[in-house]
Amino acid sequence: MPTYTAPVKDMMFLFEKLRDNKNYNELEKYNEVTPDLVKDILEEAAKINQNLILPLAKAGDENPAVLENGIVRTPPGYKEAYQKYIEDGWTSLSCDPKYGGQGMPKTVSAFFDEMLSSASLSFKLYSELSIGAYNCINHHASNEIKDKYLPKIVEGKWSGTMCLTEPVCGTDLGLLKTKAIKQSDDTYKISGQKIFITSGDHDLTENIIHLVLARSADSPSGTKGISLFLVPKYIVNEDGSVGPRNGISTGSIESKMGIKGSATCVLNFDDATGYMIGTKDKGLSAMFTMMNLERIVVGIQGLGISEIAYQNSLAYAKERKQGKTNNSKSSNGADFIIEHADIRRTLLNMKSIIEGERALCFWLSQQTEVSLYHPDEKIKHDASDYVSLMTPVVKSLFTDLAMEITSDAMQIHGGYGYTKDQGIEQLYRDNRITPIYEGTNSVQAADLVFRKLFNKNGDIINKFLDMVKSECESKNGKVKTFSKELNYYLDILSKFTGWIGDKNKIEKDDVSAAANDYLKSLGYISIAYAWIKILDVSFNDFNTNEEFYSDKINTAKFYFDKVLPRAEYHYKSAISGSSNIMNFKFN
Ligand SMILES: Cc1cc2nc3c(=O)[nH]c(=O)nc-3n(C[C@H](O)[C@H](O)[C@H](O)COP(=O)(O)OP(=O)(O)OC[C@H]3O[C@@H](n4cnc5c(N)ncnc54)[C@H](O)[C@@H]3O)c2cc1C
Repeated sequence: MPTYTAPVKDMMFLFEKLRDNKNYNELEKYNEVTPDLVKDILEEAAKINQNLILPLAKAGDENPAVLENGIVRTPPGYKEAYQKYIEDGWTSLSCDPKYGGQGMPKTVSAFFDEMLSSASLSFKLYSELSIGAYNCINHHASNEIKDKYLPKIVEGKWSGTMCLTEPVCGTDLGLLKTKAIKQSDDTYKISGQKIFITSGDHDLTENIIHLVLARSADSPSGTKGISLFLVPKYIVNEDGSVGPRNGISTGSIESKMGIKGSATCVLNFDDATGYMIGTKDKGLSAMFTMMNLERIVVGIQGLGISEIAYQNSLAYAKERKQGKTNNSKSSNGADFIIEHADIRRTLLNMKSIIEGERALCFWLSQQTEVSLYHPDEKIKHDASDYVSLMTPVVKSLFTDLAMEITSDAMQIHGGYGYTKDQGIEQLYRDNRITPIYEGTNSVQAADLVFRKLFNKNGDIINKFLDMVKSECESKNGKVKTFSKELNYYLDILSKFTGWIGDKNKIEKDDVSAAANDYLKSLGYISIAYAWIKILDVSFNDFNTNEEFYSDKINTAKFYFDKVLPRAEYHYKSAISGSSNIMNFKFN
C-alpha cells in the first residue's frame, strides 16, 4: 500500500507567503483565518487522511461497492470512516455558517481536497458531489429549499449527486430525454434513466439529494429546453424529517477500471417527485455553477494523486539498488536508482510540476474568493474572468499530467509498479477517470478556445497575459533571469492566441485541432507564472531558511529548463493546421 505524508509544510508556505492578492486580503470575512488557525486545520486534516482514509483506498479497490437486493453497500470501513469524517466536520469546511458550515475560504478547502484525493479518491467522491450540490442549491434555489436541505448536506447526514448523463447523451446534453411533468401543486414528476452517476446510491447517508437535468413537456429540444430539479431519494417532510421513498431505483452499479470503491450508478426515475431549481429552461447554466467549481476540484484530484505517486516513487528510488551510475563510487554491488540521471530527471519532473500546480491552484483559490465576495463589481468581474479562463486549464492539464506522473511512478517502480505489490498501478487506474468526467479534457480545450479566450466580457486572455507580463516586469534581482525567460514564452502565447483568433474567423477545424495544444501551452506558462511567485519569495527570504528555499529555486530551475519548453512545442505542433487531419481517409 502506498504511504502518504500530507505536504502541510508546502501548503503553509503558500498560505503564509503567497497570499499576495490585495483584493483577497481585503475580504473582511477572512480576517480571522490566520496562519495559526490554518496550520491547526491542516494538521488535523493530515491526521485523518494519513491514518483513517488512506487505508480505504486499497480496501475499496479490493472490495468494490456492490448492489445487493436493491441496496448499494460501500466497501468495508467506509461507513465507520464516513461517520468520523462528518463528526469532525470535514463536509462543512467551506460552507456558509448560516447553514452550519465553518466558512473557510477556498485557499484552505483546496488543500483539504488535495489531501483527500491523495488518500482515497473513491472515498472522497461520496462527499465531493455533496459540496457541488450545496453550491448549486445555495446559488439558485429558493430560501425555502435552502433552509430545508442545506443544513443536512452541510452536516454530511445527506449527500448530493449530479445527474446529467444518459445512455445517449454524455458530452452533448442537448440530446437529453429525461422528462419532467408539472403537477397541480407545482412539483414535477421526473421520469427517465441516468447513467454513470457518482454516489448515485450508497449506505453512508440518511438521504441522497439528486440534482437532475430534465426536459419539461412543453420545453424546446436542445440545450435551451433543459431545467434543473432537486429530486430526493426520500421525500423530506414539512418538519425536515425523512419521509417515504421517492420513485428512484438503482438499476446497477458499473464495474470499472479504477475508483472501484466509488459507487457509479444507473438510476431509474419513475414518476419521482422533483422540485424545480432556478428558472425553467435555464437548468444547464444553473448546473454549471456546480460543474465549474467541480472542474477545479477534479484538477485538484489529479494534483493529489500526483503527490502520493511522487512521494512513493521518491522513497522507492532511495531504497532500490540496480546498476551502476557513470560515476559510481560503489565498489561492490549496485547504486541506489536515485543516483541514475534518468530517474532523477523523472522525479524532478514530477516535483516541479506538482509544486507549481499547487501554487497555481492557490493563486486561483484567491481569485475564486474575490470573484464571489469582493464588494467592488469591477474587481469581482476581473477575478471571475481569470477563474473562467483557468478552470478548463486546471481541470485538463492537471489530470493529464497526473496520467504522466502516475505512469512515470510505475516506471520508477519497474515490475513492482505494474504488479499490485506497491499499489502504484492503482493510482494510475484511479486517476484515469479524471480526464474523462466533468466534461472530457478535449471538450474543456474546445471550451477554452471557442468560449473563454474572447467572450462577452472582452479580451480575457490578453488581460491575463498583460497581468502576468507586468508582474514579471516588476520583479527585481535574481528572479529576473526567470521572468525574462517566461517573457519569451508569453510572446509565443501571444502569437498563438493571435493565430487562434485569426483561424477562428476562417477555418474552425484548425482551431479545434489546435485546442488541446493551446490549453497545454497556456497551462505550462501559467504554472511558470506560479513558479515566479515562489521564486520571488525564495530569493528574498533565502537567508531565513536556506534549505527550503534552495530546494524551491533548484526545482524551479528544472521546471524552466525541462518542462516549460513544452509550451513552444505545442505552439509549433498546432500551427501546422488541420487540413491533413481533416482530409485523411481512415480505412
Ligand atoms: C466513473 C464515472 C463517473 C461519472 N460520474 C458522473 C456523474 O456523477 N454525473 C454525470 O452526469 N455523469 C457522470 N459521468 C459521465 C461523464 O461525465 C461522461 O462519461 C463524460 O462527460 C463523457 O461523456 P460520454 O461518456 O458520453 O462520452 P462522449 O460524449 O460520447 O464522448 C466520446 C469522445 O468524443 C469526444 N467528443 C465528444 N464531443 C466532442 C466535441 N464536441 N468536440 C471534441 N470531442 C468531442 C469526447 O472528448 C470523447 O473523447 C461519469 C462517468 C464515469 C465513467
